[in-house]
Amino acid sequence: MENPAGLIVLGREGGCGSTWGQSRSPMAATPTSNLPAPARFAVFDGDLDEEWAALYAGVRALAVDTEAMGLIHGRDRLCLVQLCDDHDNVCCIRLSRGQAEAPRLRGLMESPAIEKVFHFARFDVAALAENLAITVQPLFCTKVASRLARTYSPRHGLKEVVQELVGVELDKQAQSSDWGRVEDLSDAQLAYAAGDVRYLLPVRDHLEAMLRREQRWDLAQRCFTCVPVMADLDRLRFHLLFEHSTGGNR
Ligand code: MN
Repeated sequence: MENPAGLIVLGREGGCGSTWGQSRSPMAATPTSNLPAPARFAVFDGDLDEEWAALYAGVRALAVDTEAMGLIHGRDRLCLVQLCDDHDNVCCIRLSRGQAEAPRLRGLMESPAIEKVFHFARFDVAALAENLAITVQPLFCTKVASRLARTYSPRHGLKEVVQELVGVELDKQAQSSDWGRVEDLSDAQLAYAAGDVRYLLPVRDHLEAMLRREQRWDLAQRCFTCVPVMADLDRLRFHLLFEHSTGGNR
């Protein structure tokens, strides 16, 4: 890596324009995003720097998302980890091939004082364990919370949940794209990656209120504590372990 600090900070206070990915180079001039620029935005290689680790160390909750080469743990490596706090400080950590640890990220992910908020935590928790030996806790899953709270809807994808609860339209076009050329991600990919974490904390708070109102808050908490177990079962290829019939020798 030519730039171990790997830090590019842009954002509203940095005075960059509406295309908040534009000052990174070399990059195709792809249209970025319909979303407003974050308060701060940084891209790191390998791990957070000290400043951002300290910035996040004091928060009550962190939104977390990851992008990988695919959905198979052990086969498809983790490429990107995105974080956002409740002041809209967003960063993306680009992981290199074969990278096995990220100590500052790990410190945050394992801190008992910081709730880590994911949409479908089961995947990200397994990916962080598999790739970076991180044991995430405590955590909140907005997909599980949505299923427990929004029983009037069959739609619990991030796009639908953010749209309904926060009124923001996420662009998911970059969802299935090549995250492996991590040093050369397009503006559109970075904007997409950032968008996936920027509205998670407001969604989380809406869902908490709904769960409390429907008296499912305690059940939700207990579901969240099961997520690391399910993630470990996924990594070991145990499917349908709790089903009466597994439909075959699995
Ligand atoms: Mn994502």
